[in-house]
Amino acid sequence: MSLSIEHLWLPYNQMKTSPPPIEVSATEASHLILADGRRVIDGIASWWTACHGYNHPHLVAAIMSQVQTMPHVMLGGLVHEPAAMLTQRLAEILPGDLSKIFLCDSGSVAVEIALKMATQYWINQGRRDRTRFVCFRYAYHGDTAGAMSVCDPDDSMHAHFKGFLLEQYPALLPATPDEWNQYENFLATHREHIAGVIIEPLVQMAAGMKFHEPHQLKQIHESCRRHGLLLIADEIATGFGRTGTMFAVEQADIVPDIMCIGKALAGGCVSLAATAATGQVYRQFHSESAEHALMHGPTFMGNPLACAAANASLDLFRSEPRLQQVAAIEQQFATAADHFQSLPHVVRSQFRGALLAVELDQSLDPQPMQDFFLARNIWLRPIHNVIYCCPSLNMCPADVQSILTAIGDFLESRIAER
Ligand SMILES: *Cc1c(COP(=O)(O)O)cnc(C)c1O
Repeated sequence: MSLSIEHLWLPYNQMKTSPPPIEVSATEASHLILADGRRVIDGIASWWTACHGYNHPHLVAAIMSQVQTMPHVMLGGLVHEPAAMLTQRLAEILPGDLSKIFLCDSGSVAVEIALKMATQYWINQGRRDRTRFVCFRYAYHGDTAGAMSVCDPDDSMHAHFKGFLLEQYPALLPATPDEWNQYENFLATHREHIAGVIIEPLVQMAAGMKFHEPHQLKQIHESCRRHGLLLIADEIATGFGRTGTMFAVEQADIVPDIMCIGKALAGGCVSLAATAATGQVYRQFHSESAEHALMHGPTFMGNPLACAAANASLDLFRSEPRLQQVAAIEQQFATAADHFQSLPHVVRSQFRGALLAVELDQSLDPQPMQDFFLARNIWLRPIHNVIYCCPSLNMCPADVQSILTAIGDFLESRIAER
């Protein structure tokens, strides 16, 4: 690498021992252009953000135009069209009456806001004892303190930060009748201390692509209703078409009380996230009392550049056949997943929308795997023992096929190894 990264501290990275990262000099459609001139197909869309591919001309034009008019103003006491228009449009496409939208700058912060919103929802009703959350094994909700506290207690940074994190109620995401009984009993026992339940609908992506069924999600929603608990859906990963519908909760036909969105919200160009609440939640804040106001306010809240990008991204979901493209990718994934499932070492090969995950019976050494794919001009990174692909939603079928062929070759090469 020609770059000096002496002063660049990288994420989740042992700086002393990790091999140097790969230098990217440009992006184009679903491709990364590496500093050495190679063009690589991006199979993970930069942590599933680049839903329209990179540098989409409509997104670029919207950002360019906004940067010349007004790159940023504070949202305290001031307001502007990009934010007003975006929240109006989100209210129209979000499920049910999730129509009161609080903007912020990253997914983790959107989760923090959701947790504060749910807690204050109870405080505003005089309930100061409902401060805990039920979260699920394998959950990932972000890297800030509140968000970390609702991540998987064993398989995340929990153990690392023991003593620092809030205590929550981690639960198994129930599947069998026994597990449902346990879950229900748990809620019945503790509900007076619980503010709500937080879940990544249909797929827990960051923990290694753990899928559950729409009927499970629906039952979790029903059980929240029965016990009088708020349901927070973290759609930061699943929102904006990834699982085949605009939002994953649509497949369970539910409307959560609070929803977090982020990642692909601004088309993968700029950091933007939001926490949406239903009218019922909002009403507990909407009063004569200043104390009832939601106590949060990020400095770059509603950044006009980010809102302009998000408005342009929503245009593209209307003007280009994004969800049909997802359905076409899903077809390709279905055929490949069938084939992968028949190969040795494959425990499970699953897909939903534009997301494919192949779970192996052994941990993967990330470096050789990354090198294997890079040698085929493909960018993929495993999570533990899971190879996954979540391309931009408009990746062309030939590029999708190249990724699938390479995954097949990789799996076959492991057979030959043994
Ligand atoms: C990425 C992610 C987050 C955190 O978002 P950041 O923008 O990285 O803070 C939270 N929840 C889910 C489901 C995510 O995928």
